[in-house]
This record gives sequence, C-alpha cells and structure tokens, in this order.
Amino acid sequence: MNYTSTRNNTLSVTSGFAIANGISTEGGLFVPTDIPKVTAEFIESLVPMTYIERARKVLSLYLTDFTDEEIDEDTAGAYSTGFTHEKVAPLVNLHDNVNILELWHGPTCAFKDMALQLLPYLLTGSAEKMSDGKEIVILVATSGDTGKAALEGFKDVPGTKILVFYPSDGVSAMQKLQMTTQEGHNVGVCAIRGNFDDAQTGVKSIFTDPAVREALDKNNMAFSSANSINWGRLVPQIVYYFSAYADMIASGQITNGEKINFTVPTGNFGNILAAFYAMEMGLPVNKLICASNANNVLTEFINTGRYNRLRQFHTTVSPSMDILISSNLERLLFHLSGDNSEETKALFSSLSQNGEYTVSTEMLEKIQKVFAAGCCDDSETKQTIGNTFRENGYLCDPHTGVAINVYNAYREKTGDTTPTVIVSTASPYKFSPAVLEGLGENIVTDDEFEKMAALDSISGVPAPAKLTSLWGASPRFTDICEKEDMQNVVFSMLDI
Ligand SMILES: *Cc1c(COP(=O)(O)O)cnc(C)c1O
Repeated sequence: MNYTSTRNNTLSVTSGFAIANGISTEGGLFVPTDIPKVTAEFIESLVPMTYIERARKVLSLYLTDFTDEEIDEDTAGAYSTGFTHEKVAPLVNLHDNVNILELWHGPTCAFKDMALQLLPYLLTGSAEKMSDGKEIVILVATSGDTGKAALEGFKDVPGTKILVFYPSDGVSAMQKLQMTTQEGHNVGVCAIRGNFDDAQTGVKSIFTDPAVREALDKNNMAFSSANSINWGRLVPQIVYYFSAYADMIASGQITNGEKINFTVPTGNFGNILAAFYAMEMGLPVNKLICASNANNVLTEFINTGRYNRLRQFHTTVSPSMDILISSNLERLLFHLSGDNSEETKALFSSLSQNGEYTVSTEMLEKIQKVFAAGCCDDSETKQTIGNTFRENGYLCDPHTGVAINVYNAYREKTGDTTPTVIVSTASPYKFSPAVLEGLGENIVTDDEFEKMAALDSISGVPAPAKLTSLWGASPRFTDICEKEDMQNVVFSMLDI
C-alpha cells in the first residue's frame, strides 16, 4: 500500500513517511494510491467486535508498513482508557431509522479525540521507521478544540514535546481552562496577544525558519504536525463509519449490504472525507450529506461546482465549523479526477491566487452522485437543539444541531428515507450557553460553570466529569506573550 501526493502523482511513499512528514514538499496532501476494498464478509466480521478490534481490522488495510503488534498496541493505547463510554463511539437511536453517532466520549469531549488519541502512537511509530531517532516537537496554533485534544493525545508520550499557542481573547472560557490546566511533563501552553491568524502565522514562520530548524537539529529534535491535513489524523476517522454500520446491523435496523446515509457537520472536510474513503472501500452508502453553518462555502460548492472563499466570515455558535478554506477537499477532488495531480494543482493555485475555482461539469456530476449539502444559521441551529430535546429527548451540541437541521431539511425535500447516521462531534456541555438558549432557557450569569450546572439540572443529562472537574481549578500555564516573542517562548519551553 503506497501513498502519493495530490500535487505530484509520480511520488510513492509509505504510510510512515506520509505521517511523519504531514505534508508533501510541493504542498500537496498525501493520499493512498489504491483505496483498499473490503467484502461483505469483512463487514459482517466487524459486527461482534469491540471498537478496538474493528479499528485494528480497518487500520491494518492502510498502515501496511506497521506490524500487527504495533497496530494492536497503538489502538489499545488510544482507545482503552481515555474514553468514558465502553463502546468508544456509541450509536444512539434518535427516532425511527435515524441514529446519532457520538464521537465525543474521549478526554476532551470533542470528536478530535478520535484521531488525536491515536496520532501520537502513529507519529512516534512512523518517526522510528524513518529511523532518525529525534525527539518530535509538535507546535499547534489553536482556536479551541484541536489544541486541547492534541495536548491530551501527546501528554507524557515518550520522545515527544507539544507546545500550544492560543489567542488570549479568541477561545471560550471553557476551552481556555481546558488548556491552561493541562497536565503532563512534556507539554507547554502559552497565550498570545493577538487573534487566531496571528497565532497561526507565528507558528508557521517558526516551523519554516531555517535557523530554528538548525537549532532543533543540534539538540536532536525535529518539528512535526498534528493538524488535520496529516494522513495520521484522517485514517483513524475511517474506522467509526464501519463501526456505525456494524452497529446498525447489530441493532437489526439494516441487513448487511443495505445502503445507509451519513450526515456530517463539516468544517475542514476531514470527517466527511473519511466517510468517502469508507464508501470507496465498499461500505454500502447511499448519500453523504455535508452540513454547514452560516459559513456555507461547501454548500454552494456541492450545489454549483464553484468554490469561492471570498465572502464574509461569520462567527457562529458552532465555531469549529467557522472555516472558509476546507483543506481536505483537495483529497476528494484528486480522487474524483482519476488521481490527476495537474488538474488538482491548477484548481488549488486558482484558489490561492483568485480566491476561487470552478470544477468541470463532469466532476460536479461525480460529486453530486455521492454528496448532498445544506446549511443553517444560528437561530435555526438553536431551534433544532430545542426541538430535538423536546421531541426526541436528545440533548445535542450546536455542531450536531447543524447536522440534524440539515438532515431534516434534506429528508423533507428529497423524500429519501434511507436509514441514516448523523455524526455528533461534541458534548453539549462544551457549549452550554448556546445549548441553553436553544432550550429557551434564560440563565442570568456569565459563569460558564453555572450554566453547565443549570443545563445539567434542566436536561437531566449528566455533565461529563472531565468538564465539571475544571470548576475552580487553578491554571498551570498563565503566560501571555507578544506575537513577536513566540520563537523565544518555543526555545525556552524546549530548554535550548
Ligand atoms: C473540528 C470539528 C468539526 C469539523 O470537522 P472537519 O473534519 O474539520 O470537517 C465539527 N465539529 C466539531 C465539534 C469539531 O471540533
């Protein structure tokens, strides 16, 4: 099993190389050259298995330069202790043949854990295969969920250090406290005076500064990346689409071979792209429904073929989907073009130069054969949170609210009643204020934890201990730096 680049299809590398390097030198993303195919028997065999066993079966098709022992150890390490639900990614029936796939039972209560609990194992394993024996330094600029999930994933992992920068006024109170109270001997967290773009730009320039690289090299260290374009973050996400399908069979809602729909709340297009890989592998899928908030660049693209990032940016109650450049779309377009890296390169250079591109009619037809898309604004999202709680007794977060709203509209418009899985990406308690508004409750306090307690007592759904335990916790990392000082902070955190 080999990997190539979306911008240079003559390249051929192993999964270890792709994961250790994160991105290809010419700027393309690593993709498998042949997507492995599975049989109906393969899928049937997953039904009685645990999540870890399912993960082993699916991952070993892609990580062919990892031994079975390595994959066994890695998946056990990632999914045995950090998740509070014994099924890891449980499927919950919402009503009739509509189900919710809960991906937020990990240590940070957001779906990023599904990949970031496994990535440190894959990354250290890959670095060993590349046999450079250097200590891996992960630098992250975060606007919220990714930073915390990466910290939890890399905490105390031998051979790694992780440093996270966040904008001091650009994350929620809960997200800030989650990061500033982080434990572990190899972690560092620093706020910067500036916005997310400043943090991101600062991290990128440290990453690419030859002098910094040299200093790290002298100390036997090297940078690596934990962001969502790394293949090591995508491949763990393929597993839960198979797992959900196996659970649909187990519950008797479908028989093996019957097609189902997935609805995915989407930002960077990583999660829904994993569903596309599962489908290409042979998972019986009817439609992949891409759900967006007011930042509806993907809705427009899937419906018209034109991708235009030159539009107003909206700050919404589903902030992890506030994105105008969906990086992982590049992988989809590469595959649908018949692995044509020239065509892919042309589209994405048009995106960076002109802020837009339009795909061919032929390509649009291929996209629409698989994908449907829709969007909703904040007031519709909150309404859906309220309706879903009243009508189905299910409490959802705003990202999941967007997905349920878009799915309901799709089902109504198309009359498509195929059995469906709606992907749920965060615990409602990560976003208590917006969820309370959705329920029509006006709680007069600015304190996030009082709102969490109010939501707990109103809904009867217990708040996760991972979040309630932060109430009154004292931060361990209180430094704020100027954006010009980020490099010095990195050196001092690394003791070089
Ligand atoms: C990251 C995130 C998303 C978006 O996922 P993509 O893979 O970027 O499309 C949706 N919901 C939550 C809660 C997230 O953290």
